[in-house]
Amino acid sequence: MSLKLHLLNSGPLENNVIILQDEESWEGIIFDPSFDPDEVLSVVEKEQINITSLLFTHGHFDHFAGLAYLLANIKPEPRVGLHPADLELWRQGGGSVQFRIPIELPADPDLMLEHGQRLSLGKHVIEVRHTPGHSPGSVIFHIPAITTAIVGDLIFRQGVGRTDLDGGSFPALKKSVENQVYTLPPETILIPGHGPQTSVADEMRYNPYVGAGVD
Ligand SMILES: [Zn+2]
Ligand SMILES: [Zn+2]
Repeated sequence: MSLKLHLLNSGPLENNVIILQDEESWEGIIFDPSFDPDEVLSVVEKEQINITSLLFTHGHFDHFAGLAYLLANIKPEPRVGLHPADLELWRQGGGSVQFRIPIELPADPDLMLEHGQRLSLGKHVIEVRHTPGHSPGSVIFHIPAITTAIVGDLIFRQGVGRTDLDGGSFPALKKSVENQVYTLPPETILIPGHGPQTSVADEMRYNPYVGAGVD
């Protein structure tokens, strides 16, 4: 009765891709599938996971670039979840035009995420927290059963996400980290959108941007 987490690294921006599998119900969720749908599909097929949803921490293209292809290859088609405050960003290609990286634009998401929402995976709960700052519709996913949170580009190990892109705001990001990340149990593992994982306790102590003693 446990959850198994597969972590892949994908694409030119080294995105972290997470496949969460419930070993009891055989259901699974993919978070931020990024650029390499075939790599994701090979894990899904090998483990025989029944993917029920694809969830996005935010609407930047590097997190959803391979989505259209992925959806065409998973049956029945899973739900696609995004916070509505990033819907415009998503529809405009998630910044891919500015970065000059062409992507196939997927359809609109059909599951609107909201703060405090509790999604289920088998008997387990995934809590959605709205954490604007890197983008207006950024969210994190807290998975208490494995003491882990998937935090997108809100916070990295000893770093934070850019706030100079459209809709970004450093004061909003700082508030999101303080109110929504640092209030998680300190032992919670944080898996960011890029780079190595960390923990709530380590960031509270060592993060140079939003840490203890930082104004
Ligand atoms: Zn981003
Ligand atoms: Zn990113």
